[in-house]
Amino acid sequence: MGVWENYHMPRSVDEAIRVLGQYNGNARIIAGGTDLMIDLQHGDKEDRTPLGALVDVTQIDEMTHIYEQDRWITVGAAVTHTAIVKSALLETKATCLVESCGVVGGPQVRNVGTLGGNVAHALPAGDGTTSLVALDAEALVAWNDGRREWKPIIQLFKGPGQSALDSSRDVLVAFRFAASREGEGTAFKRIMRPQGVALPILGCALWVKLDDSRSRYASVRACIGPLGSTPIRLTEVEQSLMGQSADEAALERVIEVAERSLHPRTSKYRATAEYRGYMIETLLRKALPLALHRAQTGQSQAEGVGMG
Ligand SMILES: Cc1cc2nc3c(=O)[nH]c(=O)nc-3n(C[C@H](O)[C@H](O)[C@H](O)COP(=O)(O)OP(=O)(O)OC[C@H]3O[C@@H](n4cnc5c(N)ncnc54)[C@H](O)[C@@H]3O)c2cc1C
Repeated sequence: MGVWENYHMPRSVDEAIRVLGQYNGNARIIAGGTDLMIDLQHGDKEDRTPLGALVDVTQIDEMTHIYEQDRWITVGAAVTHTAIVKSALLETKATCLVESCGVVGGPQVRNVGTLGGNVAHALPAGDGTTSLVALDAEALVAWNDGRREWKPIIQLFKGPGQSALDSSRDVLVAFRFAASREGEGTAFKRIMRPQGVALPILGCALWVKLDDSRSRYASVRACIGPLGSTPIRLTEVEQSLMGQSADEAALERVIEVAERSLHPRTSKYRATAEYRGYMIETLLRKALPLALHRAQTGQSQAEGVGMG
């Protein structure tokens, strides 16, 4: 027997949930397969247990679109990183998401890997995930009991690789977040090993909103990952900027606050805690002025796409 027996391609979320239900926990959702296939073939013993079925969600229409309605941008969970990178709407109104999806893997991975898979895999350093957290996104979940619910994205993470969703029963349908308006800007930067193991040493996404004079921070959201077992918002960093003049002194102060309040861990595959600590400063020095510039000028050309 291979790693799975049957392969289903449902055309609706309801059908996907029905098919998953028939296997009573012995089936898994597959999107691009760029994380799942590695888990099934090389993961822990439990991950390699043969499955009754894979349920492919990439042909479900409502999960494959990017659109704006009433100030909200919705991105289907089965939208690929490549589609996100090519979206003029997202580049203009959610630039950090384009920048983060634009550095995931190489072109082959981006062509099939999806934003939903990035989030459902539940790693605290997933690049798409980091930007969704800074955008304060919500996720639409179709639970196996028939309920549909918009949940703050941060509530989907329970631990490294542990999602609040059960991908053998529940479907992540879409994400939504407010489109950037005048006086708002976002940016994503990351530090990656040149050999390109699948996750960054650190990634950083920022959203800033300026006051009417465009010279003070009115509001800030920040996410750097990984800094813990789940993605987190950097509340002290955010608060240290609110109401401050958008100048060099604010940048120096926020770096001090970040160094004091953030405690990265050592990873044997990626970097030591000490190195990551230094890189927080580097990331903030790049990402904050960029987000600020975008908020002040309305400029939104994504940087670094394809430079993974
Ligand atoms: C060579 C390589 C390089 C990579 N580089 C990066 C990188 O730079 N940055 C980065 O963040 N990631 C990277 N990845 C990881 C991966 O490509 C991304 O996380 C990708 O977004 C996963 O999406 P997918 O569609 O392939 O997910 P899949 O592999 O299809 O699924 C992943 C998990 O999510 C579940 N799932 C998928 N979709 C749904 C859904 N709609 N509802 C519920 N559950 C779902 C699956 O059951 C599975 O558990 C890399 C992977 C490879 C192989």
